[in-house]
Amino acid sequence: MALLTLDRVTKRFGGLLANNSVSFEVIEGEILGLIGPNGAGKSTLFEQITGFYPPTSGRIEFEGHSLVGLRPDQVNRLGIGRTFQKVKPFLGMTVIENVMVAAMQYDPDPVKARRDARGFLEIVDLADKGDAGARALSIGERKRLEMARAMATKPRLLLLDEVTGGVDQRTIPTLLQLISRLRNEQGLTLVVIEHNMRVIMSISDRIVALHLGEVIADGRPADVVKSPRVIEAYLGDSFVVPATESGPRR
Ligand code: ADP
Ligand code: MG
Repeated sequence: MALLTLDRVTKRFGGLLANNSVSFEVIEGEILGLIGPNGAGKSTLFEQITGFYPPTSGRIEFEGHSLVGLRPDQVNRLGIGRTFQKVKPFLGMTVIENVMVAAMQYDPDPVKARRDARGFLEIVDLADKGDAGARALSIGERKRLEMARAMATKPRLLLLDEVTGGVDQRTIPTLLQLISRLRNEQGLTLVVIEHNMRVIMSISDRIVALHLGEVIADGRPADVVKSPRVIEAYLGDSFVVPATESGPRR
């Protein structure tokens, strides 16, 4: 069953078509990988699903409810959680307080929020850091905190934007295990934006590839990786990567 349906979703920023008639479904219980080179329009799609940007045109439905025109908190309340590509924890708070704030958005009881927050920190393996300041966390830990914050809003569908981006390579397997556990043990459906093809192949049931705002492949990982359009888009991108990694753009 389709949990989320995108139908010809288009987002225009002035003369730029960030998403051009994007259509695909997210099936209940799956991990869907969303890939594409930088600027392909992946994050813009999340912004539209979650009510941060209104689509220029197109239909977005979650369990038959249209999400178009809803505010981010309304979309969240319907059962869609998300993380941001650039994580921004409240640095002046402790780790557990960060999760409590998210939990208390919908249930103001602080005792319950603390108990729930502890549970979510356990899920993301940050239970021992609950009383530390958020400032003390590494990038990988901040991404896991962000996941706990998203979990605290009790979503059925979780959208993760580049959770492995910028983290210590050695912690990536742990992050991937966590994503699989969210599906297998917490029963979540996930859409995972990821830049690294090998990473996304290892966890996704299905992959949608975007390039220049358009869907260029949608299918099983083993098929998508063989798609000439995907190979071409990634080959082009790989010429850019060394320059951005070593150059002043970082
Ligand atoms: P990705 O996440 O795939 O790297 P984005 O969705 O962030 O790509 O961006 C897609 C395109 O839309 C890029 O060209 C980006 O510069 C542009 N874009 C994204 N957000 C805005 C915005 N708020 N205003 C103008 N252009 C934007
Ligand atoms: Mg992005």
